[in-house]
Amino acid sequence: TSFAEMGIKDDLLRGIYQYGFEKPSAIQQRAVVPILQGRDVIAQAQSGTGKTSMIGLTVCQTVDTSSREVQALILSPTRELASQTEKVILAMGNFMSIKVHACIGGKSVGDDIRKLENGVQVVSGTPGRVCDMIKRRTLKTTQIKLLILDESDEMLSRGFKDQIYDIYRYLPPVLQVCLISATLPHEILEMTNKFMTDPIRILV
Ligand code: AMP
Repeated sequence: TSFAEMGIKDDLLRGIYQYGFEKPSAIQQRAVVPILQGRDVIAQAQSGTGKTSMIGLTVCQTVDTSSREVQALILSPTRELASQTEKVILAMGNFMSIKVHACIGGKSVGDDIRKLENGVQVVSGTPGRVCDMIKRRTLKTTQIKLLILDESDEMLSRGFKDQIYDIYRYLPPVLQVCLISATLPHEILEMTNKFMTDPIRILV
């Protein structure tokens, strides 16, 4: 299947081609269509498989760029990965007016507040800072439709489990969840049972 055959919109296709991609990687082949159909997806994949790009293109395809409400939330274990995901979204969304903010520890809280109050459609962050912004009511969760948990096993081993559960409690009850993890230990399966409905499991 090509990107065009996946039903990806033209302005996003331009961004993907400009980024240098010609055809989807294995994980993109298998996960993009179910995610775009609204399914919950567990993807067992390592970094380097095209998972960050998969997140970027599914987020760009699904958000309503005429709105200024946060619709997609991506959680990552490290500031670097959260920033990288933000960059990929901006690059792929180069021909769309997509607004994304990296909500990560170590950067000024004032900057987070300004960006979020200006209105963004996508937040890519680390659990600690995102949880903080939600509790301050700066990050509004009512319009979030898609939660992506990237490198979930790594988030748990960095001690973010409680913050992830905390964040989940603030999200709307009708929510699409995608979980990416290199490994699927018991604690991850517990999360999938709590957060996900009839998920598709993909191993790449
Ligand atoms: P990722 O796992 O998304 O960080 O991707 C790993 C590397 O593969 C990055 O350098 C991406 O730019 C590249 N990549 C991801 N998807 C594709 C694709 N469909 N075609 C070509 N390169 C890709």
